[in-house]
Amino acid sequence: MQYVVAVLVGFVLAEVATFISTVYLHRVLSHKSIRLHPALTMVMRFGTWMLTSISPREWVAVHRKHHNFTDVEGDPHSPHVEGYWQIMIGNVYYYRREANDGDTLEKYASDLPYDRLDRMLLRRGILGFSLTGVILVLVMGLWPGLVALATLAVVYLGFSAAINGAGHTVGYKTFENDATNLRLLALITFGEGLHNNHHARPAAPKLSAFRGEFDPAWPIIRLLVALRLAEVLTRVDEGWENHRRRIPKTTPGPLGKSTAAAKVVVKD
Ligand SMILES: [Zn+2]
Ligand SMILES: [Zn+2]
Repeated sequence: MQYVVAVLVGFVLAEVATFISTVYLHRVLSHKSIRLHPALTMVMRFGTWMLTSISPREWVAVHRKHHNFTDVEGDPHSPHVEGYWQIMIGNVYYYRREANDGDTLEKYASDLPYDRLDRMLLRRGILGFSLTGVILVLVMGLWPGLVALATLAVVYLGFSAAINGAGHTVGYKTFENDATNLRLLALITFGEGLHNNHHARPAAPKLSAFRGEFDPAWPIIRLLVALRLAEVLTRVDEGWENHRRRIPKTTPGPLGKSTAAAKVVVKD
């Protein structure tokens, strides 16, 4: 039973890490679509350090380069360039390969220099993740604590690989880019699975675009805005139509014929 609890704890922590990644690393730092209150920024910085061991400067640089060279030579982690299973299994290798390139950091994240807190503490990512491990072991016992820590790592890395691999290979496309939307993945990655939408409008603060899509981070962001802990800086819904896919998609109706709704899409 204690190992079931350990796996659950690890999964919940991976969800928290994924939420921090999509809101802070992705929407706040990489695309500047949201601004956070300084206190919440500090929570996000320590959360990133303790749950992912990621350097925000590195993550942002690699991610911006991915947007610059999406699915062509130069993309740090494209399944179309490297191969599907290479990314699904080796995503972390491709990430590190790019993150270790000083030129990439200088070129794509010059707006995010290391500050004193980074230099003193947060640049030591392994230290943050180890601290989480020590806390889990002290609270849960040696083996359950390690199982929770391992679950956190495996689930978080699995989600990241799925976004970068499956999110550029399988799923549906509303817009003309090589990324794909996966509704189910979006539900467990706080909207990141709606990756085709994201590549169409990288600066959109909300990743869902049309009916039937749900970005679970969005209601939380709105709550943070209501609490004056966050501010949305870019347009939320306006703008999707400008990026709408030109190729009309016909969907068969219940009797196998095109429905009125499908005709509207065609007309569009
Ligand atoms: Zn992408
Ligand atoms: Zn992005």
